[in-house]
Amino acid sequence: MDEKNSISKELKEKLFMKRENGYKRVDTAEEEKIFSFAEDYKKFLDSAKTEREAVIEAVKLLESNGFVEYKKGMELKAGDRIYRNNRGKAVIMAVIGTAPICQGVRLCAAHIDSPRLDLKQNPLYEDSELALFKTHYYGGIKKYQWTTVPLSLHGVILKADGTSVSVNIGENENDPVFCVTDLLPHLATEQMTRTAGKIIRGEDLNLLIGSIPFRDDETSEAVKLNIMNILFEKYGITESDFISAELEAVPAFKARDIGFDRSLIGGYGHDDRCCAYPALRASLECNMPVHTAVTVLTDKEETGSDGNTGLCSSYLKYFITDIAEDMGGTGRDVLSASECLSADVNAAFDPTFAEVNERNNCAYVNKGVCITKYTGARGKSGTSDASAEFAGRIRRLMDSRNVIWQTGELGKVDAGGGGTVAAYIANLNVDTIDMGVPVLSMHAPYEVISKLDLYMAYKAFAAFIAD
Ligand code: MN
Ligand code: MN
Repeated sequence: MDEKNSISKELKEKLFMKRENGYKRVDTAEEEKIFSFAEDYKKFLDSAKTEREAVIEAVKLLESNGFVEYKKGMELKAGDRIYRNNRGKAVIMAVIGTAPICQGVRLCAAHIDSPRLDLKQNPLYEDSELALFKTHYYGGIKKYQWTTVPLSLHGVILKADGTSVSVNIGENENDPVFCVTDLLPHLATEQMTRTAGKIIRGEDLNLLIGSIPFRDDETSEAVKLNIMNILFEKYGITESDFISAELEAVPAFKARDIGFDRSLIGGYGHDDRCCAYPALRASLECNMPVHTAVTVLTDKEETGSDGNTGLCSSYLKYFITDIAEDMGGTGRDVLSASECLSADVNAAFDPTFAEVNERNNCAYVNKGVCITKYTGARGKSGTSDASAEFAGRIRRLMDSRNVIWQTGELGKVDAGGGGTVAAYIANLNVDTIDMGVPVLSMHAPYEVISKLDLYMAYKAFAAFIAD
């Protein structure tokens, strides 16, 4: 009996896939690295809440790590570190490899835009002596989650004279914050009969910004006037300047540890900064890779990647073409020989909502970075579906570098679905696979990830781009 048991135990060890908690596989030295990496990441999250701020932070780090702004025609040699800033909303960085450029690049692609409330172009109004901003939500959100949380305002305003002013208000402890109000339960009898998508409607997402009327004035809209006067004094803007502004309301809270064991991080915008930051760090620390290591931090993923700062545009292709030509190659040959990790998050299994997942094929907290062969919806619609050969190569690479990884797809087959930038990069004839950190409460104002999974994403991206 005992012998039989030990044989089956041995066989299971040999034949079954291991899906154990990552903490059973890391030693104390690695555990320390996991926790210290999370400290750096939290700082990045707090200072880079929008795509523009993420680019500013990234460029700061790039320049202090020897990266220079790329100009077409530059002489490029192995070890050179370059970057291109796309309109302050996306950035591409590269460390030139020792292999000829025609052997392709190793590309990591993550996005730095996150769901939020954008101000409309004519946002300011007064109603019943309260001043409010009209918003238009950005990305896929459950609208009811965005009421009654403190929000800060970030962005840029282009004034009539062509000068611009940056806005960042609500992050410092002494700053005021803003919020979207909700109806008290006592009077919500009708509201609570609506389906969840309509409990709060798009036009209900109005940001409360003031209530004091302008003094010494009998005019109408005195509260609005008072707010406009404050804005004029602070930023030098008039109401028309909102037309040429991009102002984004995002959660005002800071990233914090979650749990008695501090194993998790709660914060706004993990999707996809929990992949963007590890990819950036891997790039900064990359020296003399074999293949040229390229990382792109892109914008507009949450609205479908359209627009000139999103990956459906040609800006990535142009960059690859430019550096290829500078090194005596052609863009199409380089792209065709390239490999890409589409570094984006996946859904983490949540026991409270277990029914949307198929337990054998979903990602779990603390089981490592998640490799996703295909995304999409229904019958694999909208996915690039990595080849078995490429999945096999990535799997071998991860194992050889002791990266703790798992595999999972986004929910049950017909539960819904979603996509990433993978398909757009694969469409450039690049071998592409999704890899990223599992997230709880994805797209909520406060998302949750595991420190171990975050660190494994960093290890994975570093292993890939150095290869
Ligand atoms: Mn994402
Ligand atoms: Mn997303």
